[in-house]
Amino acid sequence: MIRQISADYIYPVSSKPIKNGILTYDDQSGKIISLEGSKSETSSSVEHYSGILVPGFINAHCHLELSHLKGQIPTGTGLLPFLKAVVTLREFPQEVIRQAIEAQDQAMWEAGIMAVGDISNKIDTADCKRKSPIRYSTFVEFFDFMQPHLTSKFVSQYLEVYQNFQPKKDDKLSAVPHAPYTVTADLFNEINSINSPLDIVSIHNQETVHEDDLFLTGTGGFPSFFKDFGFDFSTFSPTGKPSIYYAMENMNPHNKTLFIHNTKTLASEIQAAENWSENKIFWVSCPNANLFIENKLPDYSLFLAQNAKVCLGTDSLSSNWQLSILEEIKTLSKYCSYLDFDTLISWATLNGAEALGMSDTLGSFEPGKTPGILLLENLSEDKKIKAETTVSRIC
Ligand SMILES: [Zn+2]
Repeated sequence: MIRQISADYIYPVSSKPIKNGILTYDDQSGKIISLEGSKSETSSSVEHYSGILVPGFINAHCHLELSHLKGQIPTGTGLLPFLKAVVTLREFPQEVIRQAIEAQDQAMWEAGIMAVGDISNKIDTADCKRKSPIRYSTFVEFFDFMQPHLTSKFVSQYLEVYQNFQPKKDDKLSAVPHAPYTVTADLFNEINSINSPLDIVSIHNQETVHEDDLFLTGTGGFPSFFKDFGFDFSTFSPTGKPSIYYAMENMNPHNKTLFIHNTKTLASEIQAAENWSENKIFWVSCPNANLFIENKLPDYSLFLAQNAKVCLGTDSLSSNWQLSILEEIKTLSKYCSYLDFDTLISWATLNGAEALGMSDTLGSFEPGKTPGILLLENLSEDKKIKAETTVSRIC
């Protein structure tokens, strides 16, 4: 059935917001038919909502397979104690893991999320993703703890995950490195050989000061962190440059690349990455996870100053309280009030859709797209997101 809806504001994202605009769409397929300015005589068939209509959200970084770890790990410890806590947690029954994955997939859908860029080390999420209304770009993540003698063992382990994933139509699958500090140059080569240049890749980047310390001078917490796990780190030689340069030297600039976290990334490094892979860099920010783990946020003004494309992610429930893009927007509105509503909504929708290669159908209200339609309610008078702001799915 064709429906016509109107709201105080409609945010197409790809064009200017429309006050009292009218959105016409097919509620079977979700396809947008047209978008018009307000009419003086509004027909009675138009349903009016008080609030703001925005396209469905994109969660550009998640680890759905860790959903059972909600509430298991202390906050504010810093990345190295956090990673240690994750690695040394007891094993959970497979049924608990499966149920948590399904519950969170459903919770993300209800919270208005249309597509997810999801890191997977295991096959646990494959069945759920095939059945889900959410579109997934699965990033099968490889690491070898910087141990050259373990590279081939880990390649076969993660290649098996990659080969068994079998994504549904319109979903995506690629092989990705975990982070500069856990991937040898040989493993980067193996990952590059699995992907085609059209594939999208991601890497965790500059989430803690220890990461740059390791690459600059071989100092910081990482050498003893690895030693605690029985890994020999004496063969590692510092590059003398921040960690992101090691990533760029070893990744394929022809792939679209999502750098995740970037809490320590400097203006010069943003510029270097933008030059390295022109028009193909996305900076994914997971503010709640950054506060959860290190109690720090990136300096977003550096990214805005260079017109760098930022999008939003939730990271996993091991380092977040919920998987909700609206909650990420609330955090940014509260701690970085220089980020206005329009900027945050574009990060949460169109930028994320472009990052995941899904902007042909998602991310904005444009005729022919099926972006999902969300209603934001309880905003402040001047269109500011408040703690009380809610999201509901119209379509
Ligand atoms: Zn992550």
